[in-house]
Amino acid sequence: MRLILLGPPGAGKGTQASRIVQRYEVPHISTGDIFRKNIKEGTELGKKAKEYMDKGLLVPDEIVVAIVEDRLKEADCKNGFLLDGFPRTVNQAEALDKVLENMNISLDKVINIKVDKNVLVDRVVGRRICRDCGATYHVKFNPPAEEGKCDVCGGELYQRDDDKEETVTKRIEVYLQETTPLIDYYSNKRLLADIEGEQDIDKVFEDIVKALGSEK
Ligand SMILES: [Zn+2]
Repeated sequence: MRLILLGPPGAGKGTQASRIVQRYEVPHISTGDIFRKNIKEGTELGKKAKEYMDKGLLVPDEIVVAIVEDRLKEADCKNGFLLDGFPRTVNQAEALDKVLENMNISLDKVINIKVDKNVLVDRVVGRRICRDCGATYHVKFNPPAEEGKCDVCGGELYQRDDDKEETVTKRIEVYLQETTPLIDYYSNKRLLADIEGEQDIDKVFEDIVKALGSEK
């Protein structure tokens, strides 16, 4: 199963991605994770990416496409993949089409999780992450037993720089502006599956499985 997962920041993509990966046995390819890893390790690419991300801007296409292409050529993508965070624009989608064409493969489905903008801002601004183990919480929807402390390992919880309200609002606006044409692009190719993202997490996943079918 070769899939793309679309959805604005805060749409619950991470949760759904782990379930899809488990259910369909494909690797989760998150450009966000790749960039964060590079930033943490202080690589040149990481430094470049951080400059853009700190401003709430998107990382330039040539950097992103090259990374994704290399990743798709790795052995674990043989039976499929779940792309998350890429493509974001029609330009990137066209670049991806070329990459896949050269590999003699094609996409099966583009899952689009839809959530209202105001709901999104609320969800993201309350997000907290454990410094030590990476567990995620939400001050309103999924608070830790003790404020500011991880339930799993006792580590300190923090708010990512790009989860601050001003950055979030900007990021969502940029996302919506850029992805509307992308959604049309995949809709015209009859690959798009719209999923109602304001439902219960289990129901969202149920709808995804319905859209993808039961095979692997
Ligand atoms: Zn922890």
